[in-house]
Amino acid sequence: MAKVAFIGLGVMGFPMAGHLKTKGGHDVTVYNRTAEKAAAWVDTFSGKSAPTPAEAADGCDFVFVCVGNDDDLRQVTSGEKGVLSTMKRGSVLIDNTTASAEVARELYEAAKAKSVDFIDAPVSGGQAGAENGVLTVMCGGDEAVFEKAKPVIDAYARMVGLMGPAGSGQLTKMMNQICIAGVVQGLAEAVHFGKRAGLDIEKVVDVISKGAAGSWQMENRHKTMNQGKYDFGFAVDWMRKDLGIVLTEARRNGAKLPLTALVDQFYGDIQALGGNRWDTSSLLARLEK
Ligand code: NAP
Repeated sequence: MAKVAFIGLGVMGFPMAGHLKTKGGHDVTVYNRTAEKAAAWVDTFSGKSAPTPAEAADGCDFVFVCVGNDDDLRQVTSGEKGVLSTMKRGSVLIDNTTASAEVARELYEAAKAKSVDFIDAPVSGGQAGAENGVLTVMCGGDEAVFEKAKPVIDAYARMVGLMGPAGSGQLTKMMNQICIAGVVQGLAEAVHFGKRAGLDIEKVVDVISKGAAGSWQMENRHKTMNQGKYDFGFAVDWMRKDLGIVLTEARRNGAKLPLTALVDQFYGDIQALGGNRWDTSSLLARLEK
């Protein structure tokens, strides 16, 4: 059993911190900016909470963070009451936020300066993956530190991989989002075309999903897309944040991402339609308006 802190009890962090306590059997202290969520977590999991990130992290072996973006991450780690102000020598900071590779490298160095280790560990699998403890975790950092952290991360994951040095987890997540952007746009166009052609979408998907056109998005999203239901899932605002990170990195490394850049603009159209919190499969909505 390890002494663990978890900072950020959002859609993802709340259940992930729960798995660290129930499945992992660790001694978990949580922090959340909005105190009501921390109180709800303490009620649900009979755990403990602290009033600041620094106090939650004090004396812990592992400190997990899952907040919104780079700035939020800097605030709860290197900020005045951030976790790095109290983390002990030899402890490990694990960041589950989807953030830039740049902030991951920056935190790796800031942690090292305090004899603390850092792993960037963004996740995929969505709310359901977090609730069922079956996330995919893409890690960047030192191998010995990864080996130490993996058994703890396993509490909320089905697949945990070390992809390379600090920042590599975030770069892997960027590849993941590039794949999703293109696949969802392709699926949206196919469903749009099928409807115009008078085809029975359910029947078509039943057949073509078994062949080369099949994908997770097709399996899990065709039904709701066909019904025009988008009030669930992975929010367009989050996807735009992620694609922004991707496009900035691509400008840095020279990668050409014409389709990703276009789909990012399409998501801008969805935001203009009021779909900020709609699922990413809502790309179909702009074709049908
Ligand atoms: P969320 O429900 O909006 O939760 C965000 C959490 O971060 C909340 O606990 C929030 O506190 C906290 N936070 C934000 N800014 C903060 C700050 N400046 N200081 C302190 N706390 C702060 O988001 P989520 O869906 O859990 O996503 C978290 C991360 O995982 C994001 O980077 C997202 O891109 C990534 N992710 C999400 C999914 C998904 O399906 N949702 C899938 C994969 C990856 P409050 O409660 O006070 O607002």
